[in-house]
Amino acid sequence: MPLQFCPLYSSSQGNSVYVGTSRTRILVDAGKSGKSIESALRLIHVAPETIGGIFITHEHIDHIMGVGILARRYNLPVYICEKTYLASREKLGALPDGTLRLIEPFTPLTLGDLTVTPFAIPHDAAQPVGFRFEAGAASAVVATDIGNVNDKWMRFARGASLALLESNHNVEMLKRNPNYSPALKKRILSQHGHLSNEDSTSALVSLVGDGLKTVVLGHLSPENNTPELAYQCATEALKNAGYQTGSQIRVELSYRDHPGRLYTLDER
Ligand SMILES: [Zn+2]
Ligand SMILES: [Zn+2]
Repeated sequence: MPLQFCPLYSSSQGNSVYVGTSRTRILVDAGKSGKSIESALRLIHVAPETIGGIFITHEHIDHIMGVGILARRYNLPVYICEKTYLASREKLGALPDGTLRLIEPFTPLTLGDLTVTPFAIPHDAAQPVGFRFEAGAASAVVATDIGNVNDKWMRFARGASLALLESNHNVEMLKRNPNYSPALKKRILSQHGHLSNEDSTSALVSLVGDGLKTVVLGHLSPENNTPELAYQCATEALKNAGYQTGSQIRVELSYRDHPGRLYTLDER
């Protein structure tokens, strides 16, 4: 059965991903205003009223800004780890009765024909997770806001046909950025910050060998990266590793201000 996947917004200014099957439609994060997310859904011909829940990766504002508003407007279940909930409670505001669904890393849950597995990721938040989605033989992964590449989280991305993979910054651009304090630079570059283009590329090359067909580069920093640099870094590394971009692996981008491509995955 087909699995649909669309990055609605992706950058350090706001994140939300649409995932849908024939029976289940959900969002991963809602880090923009409720209105922005509704309009992005309409652009891909998904009525906001048909969304069945929001899965939260972590409590940073670029992931939860619109969660409370959408949950109240559509009486939506919010799937969230307990420590993330405790850290985001005030920013979420009151959720409608019965809509809080506590989830745990590494414990899969099934919603209709969609199976969702949260997995722990290294990031400076209370209990951050990525998600793996499976419907029939189709699978996709959301892996952004990750401090380092290691097999603890990578094993949940292996075998997926599509991955939204963080490619946050170009290290030199970040180091030279006069608007970022040394402390902020240190945080981003740390093992619990964000994946640089080079980090992302090393994860990518490893995942292609395990069946990844499409990578969508995500969570690009508007100040410390450009889509061209992220794309070039990925395609050059793939080429150096002997992979043909286009036929063996598609490298795609997501955007900070509008939805990316709506992918339909039905093969392994
Ligand atoms: Zn983020
Ligand atoms: Zn974050």
